[in-house]
Amino acid sequence: MANNSIPFLDLITPHKQLEDELVSVCQTVFRTSGFIGGPMVEQFELEFAQFCGAKHAIGVSNGTDALMLALTAAGIKPGEAVITVPNTFIATVEAISHAGAAAKFVDVDPRTYNMDPEKLREFLETKCVSDGTGRLVTRDDHRQVTAVIPVHLYGQMADMDPICALAAKYGLIVIEDACQAHGAEYYSNKQGKWLKAGSVGTAAAFSFYPGKNLGACGEGGAVTTNDPNVAATVKMLRDHGQAKKYYHDIEGYNGRLDALQAGLLAVKLKHLERWNEQRRTHAKTYNQSFVSAGSSIVPPYEPTWSKAVYHLYVVEVDDREAVQRFLGERNVGTGIHYPIPLHLQKAYAALPYKKGDFPVAEVAAAKILSLPMFPQLMPEQLDRVVEALTECLQSGAYAAASTRG
Ligand SMILES: *Cc1c(COP(=O)(O)O)cnc(C)c1O
Repeated sequence: MANNSIPFLDLITPHKQLEDELVSVCQTVFRTSGFIGGPMVEQFELEFAQFCGAKHAIGVSNGTDALMLALTAAGIKPGEAVITVPNTFIATVEAISHAGAAAKFVDVDPRTYNMDPEKLREFLETKCVSDGTGRLVTRDDHRQVTAVIPVHLYGQMADMDPICALAAKYGLIVIEDACQAHGAEYYSNKQGKWLKAGSVGTAAAFSFYPGKNLGACGEGGAVTTNDPNVAATVKMLRDHGQAKKYYHDIEGYNGRLDALQAGLLAVKLKHLERWNEQRRTHAKTYNQSFVSAGSSIVPPYEPTWSKAVYHLYVVEVDDREAVQRFLGERNVGTGIHYPIPLHLQKAYAALPYKKGDFPVAEVAAAKILSLPMFPQLMPEQLDRVVEALTECLQSGAYAAASTRG
């Protein structure tokens, strides 16, 4: 990494800044040998629940398992259908499969890339039917539709009021995929207040993968919920279905968060609000700089009802490969989240979907580009990213276009 290069993500600086505290957590764990469970996990769970404005947080092995355990604990059963979006990390759909259910996709809003409530309504009204016993089933494969997973992609919450209203009307459970949205907020007109990611659905899943807004030094995840039964069931499921050692009431999983990660996460949690604020400030700086540079880049859309935490800062460009190459030559790191919508992935070739089924997600996947975004970005680094991208787009070979305008 050249000295003047701007990484897409810097995970070295925050760990350097917190090194003493993090090392001291390791020493405590080594000296007590309390590696699994115990006070560090419990303390972190309390603090994370409080951070999310949820009654319970249960530490688990990773975000994928958090989704699967949330679905299972909320009562989703093998054979059922769960609705989500095609433009998410594959884990959302893996978790649905691991719970034994089938994923059904609805397209997204071109401005936010999050689930379009109108597309959800259309799916429920035209692709589903009541089977006479009050169960909602899909017309094509007659699966009972029992849950919906809105994904709070890039750190911005999905439009939860209309999604929750539709879920209530059709008897669906809402599980939030909050794996990119630690601390994000949504203004609910219905409730007349700001709600935090992880406090809205029946349950929510968080990932503590190192690159997330709150990242472990390894793997980790959490389920949050206000429902004491769901909390108790996730607790049992993550620990082989036992509440008392070797008394297995149900068959569960090995899905725990270990004490070391919980202790390290607790240290970082104290900085999360400030880090999120820094991400928001960087996003604003990017937005304003693109405008004042006369760039054709359209800044990410943040509705008035949203306080996004900018896990990613995503813009759209034509000829993305060339833009990425140009930025690479200027030592500016970029990413693509994600290049192929899930209904077009090889792994899901057996699902009854084809190219053209979700045009908004497909067009977005071809154009989206994630720019460097992490709390420790310096103003001069932000300037250089904007300069490089503006120069690239004005060089004539590339014309930026946005489907979001
Ligand atoms: C990271 C992520 C997950 C999975 O989390 P892991 O901890 O990597 O298992 C799920 N959904 C989304 C949207 C994610 O970004």
